[in-house]
Amino acid sequence: MANKKILKASSYYLEDVLGLDLDKRAEEGKLSFLLLNQPPVCDYHCRRCFMPDYRRKNYDPKKALALEEYKKILADAKQNGILCLEISGEGEPLLEKKLPSIIEYADKLGIMTTLITNGNTITEEQIKFFKKHNVTLVFSLHTLDKKKYELDNCNEGSFDRKIQNIEKAAVIYKGTKIIKKGFEVYRLAIHATLQKDNVEEIGKLKEFCHGHEIFFSIAPLALIGSALKHKEIQFSDGEKIIEDIVWQGDNSIIHSHSSSKAFGREVCGTAYYGLNIGWDGYILFDAHYGYEIGERNMLGNIRDIPFREAIEKQRKYSKILFENIVGSCPPRDIRGKQFLEKVLKGKIKISV
Ligand code: SF4
Repeated sequence: MANKKILKASSYYLEDVLGLDLDKRAEEGKLSFLLLNQPPVCDYHCRRCFMPDYRRKNYDPKKALALEEYKKILADAKQNGILCLEISGEGEPLLEKKLPSIIEYADKLGIMTTLITNGNTITEEQIKFFKKHNVTLVFSLHTLDKKKYELDNCNEGSFDRKIQNIEKAAVIYKGTKIIKKGFEVYRLAIHATLQKDNVEEIGKLKEFCHGHEIFFSIAPLALIGSALKHKEIQFSDGEKIIEDIVWQGDNSIIHSHSSSKAFGREVCGTAYYGLNIGWDGYILFDAHYGYEIGERNMLGNIRDIPFREAIEKQRKYSKILFENIVGSCPPRDIRGKQFLEKVLKGKIKISV
């Protein structure tokens, strides 16, 4: 039987390959993930973007975390048992000048990094740097159709660049796939968002990935942010349940086995066992969900709260969050939106 594929630094990797129980770790006060959002700046305008347009327009660089602040957060994270750093937004991480220093410092502390990028400006030097510093590199790609791709992100010429950059990464990352505990462990992946106009392409995308020894991940469109105003990419029968889609990929990069102890179902490990921090230091439920929570300082700012205290609070509000939704992924959960509204209206208390 073929080895099961798994993405390095995902919850399943920590659980199935490293044999860790993320729930037990959390009970001992150790979160496993830290999500550090980068500023809401991007060279694309994807219709599916989690980030609502006003976040880009209102961006004030003076409010952004400084490099020394990122380093303190990482050092505190290490001290509190965090194993993985995820950088997947808010905008495009490659456009952030501090990114290499953040990744290098995390590596120095022995923290694995997952970087999710549109890859539009990535260079050979950067790819080699990421490979050297224990980065699991994930390119977002939802179609192999040039016209559709560039229509979606409003960036002419981006498709050919993207494919060239992915092929460059496949060459440089060649040999990073390992077999461990019967699993094929990947450090290079493509993540596709399933939307109304790419349903028939899933097989081709998977084939493209396997043809380049790349892990294939997929999740359905989340009806938040920019996606809300693009009816043309929304499914006519409403939002897709992530569990119906995610297994069309090589494996899930979000679910966690350990979380089923707490909820009787698997939920997102990076959200439930992770501390999510916005580019301005405000604490969020999840890297891509509920930016309003940060705007209203409802969970505090990491500049003002001791890291230990931030973890204790996270354990409480993340339990309230997942007890109030039905699925595994808040931004893709109908109850997730209702929960957010109730929190913002003060009908559900999260000030812990
Ligand atoms: S989805 Fe990512 S690449 Fe696309 S506009 Fe949003 S931040 Fe940029």
